[in-house]
Amino acid sequence: MIKCQVVMNAMDAFAPRYLAEDWDNVGLLIGSPAQNVHKILTCLDVTESIIDKAIAEGYDMIVSHHPFLFRSMKRINTDKPLGRMIQKLLSHNIAVFAAHTNLDTTFGGVNDVLAQKLNLTDLKPLTISYREEILKLGVNVPNDYADAVRQAICKAGAGFIDNYSDCSFQFVGEGRFTPLENATPFIGTQDKNEVVTETRIETIFPAKIKNRVIKALLKAHPYEVPAYDIIPTQNVYHENGLGRIGKLQIPMLLTEFVKMVKENLPGDTFRFVKGNDKLVQKVALCSGAGVEFLDKASMQGADTYVTGDVKYHEAQHAQELGINLIDAGHFGTEMPVVKTLATYLQNENIKNKWQIEVTADTSAQDVFTTI
Ligand SMILES: [Zn+2]
Ligand SMILES: [Zn+2]
Repeated sequence: MIKCQVVMNAMDAFAPRYLAEDWDNVGLLIGSPAQNVHKILTCLDVTESIIDKAIAEGYDMIVSHHPFLFRSMKRINTDKPLGRMIQKLLSHNIAVFAAHTNLDTTFGGVNDVLAQKLNLTDLKPLTISYREEILKLGVNVPNDYADAVRQAICKAGAGFIDNYSDCSFQFVGEGRFTPLENATPFIGTQDKNEVVTETRIETIFPAKIKNRVIKALLKAHPYEVPAYDIIPTQNVYHENGLGRIGKLQIPMLLTEFVKMVKENLPGDTFRFVKGNDKLVQKVALCSGAGVEFLDKASMQGADTYVTGDVKYHEAQHAQELGINLIDAGHFGTEMPVVKTLATYLQNENIKNKWQIEVTADTSAQDVFTTI
């Protein structure tokens, strides 16, 4: 058993809240961070049948992709479907957590799972909504303390560049200072200019962990007032955004690609627009309702675009652009992430000895039936 807050933290590590779009409503939507959690159900939508299943099978937390509460409410009428569902959740103490556009966007989230189902490689985000701000840190340390300070700031999260950790550069120089009246200097005496051989350490870190890095630096540094500077950089290492663009290792006919997409995705919604006579190779996608990025996909040279919720005039526009457009359904393009969510939490459960149960919902069906 664990506290709900622990699951919230783990979810934040997988799909950080800062990746959510401004209009979104993510995080803990019902319940308390302090409540106990034994059994988690992951799902796409918090429907009444999911709530009934959670009650019947003793789940105390639901982690969904679509936010259960989205629009603001002025009254909770328990005769209406939403009010009735809120009442059921509260009376059975079931917490509800949503990871929506942050889960679409994050590495390994909805769009990456969809891309994997379509056998795409060399993936990049189709849109950029978040660029990690990188800061550069330079600090002067007495030589004997250089190792300890460098290790402390790297342990706090500095020095990561792509697949490399502990990245830093250092050189030796002369530091000068004069301790004034009220100083308690680690080296030197009052009113006497000191010259000390010091090591300069330089590294980088993401702006969001600045407080942690500076705290570690100040703790490991022996000086009363360490000399350090933090400089903004234009470096970009991590970019996140909605949608993906990638390629098929082996180009295929549109008819073959369409068949593969249909076989690999769940749901009952499937139709497509032929936009060109080329073999399918460069494919863009956006899970859910992502047709708004069709022009972007075309501009980036995609021959085919996969999404859901396509309308008539949008389909016509794909033909005008000369890009194939596959509508594999909102459900079909997003349901696969439910299993990924459960697998992630199951691994966290084992790794951190939470001793809870995590299950992926497999009962949900596409709301549409195709005849
Ligand atoms: Zn989504
Ligand atoms: Zn969606």
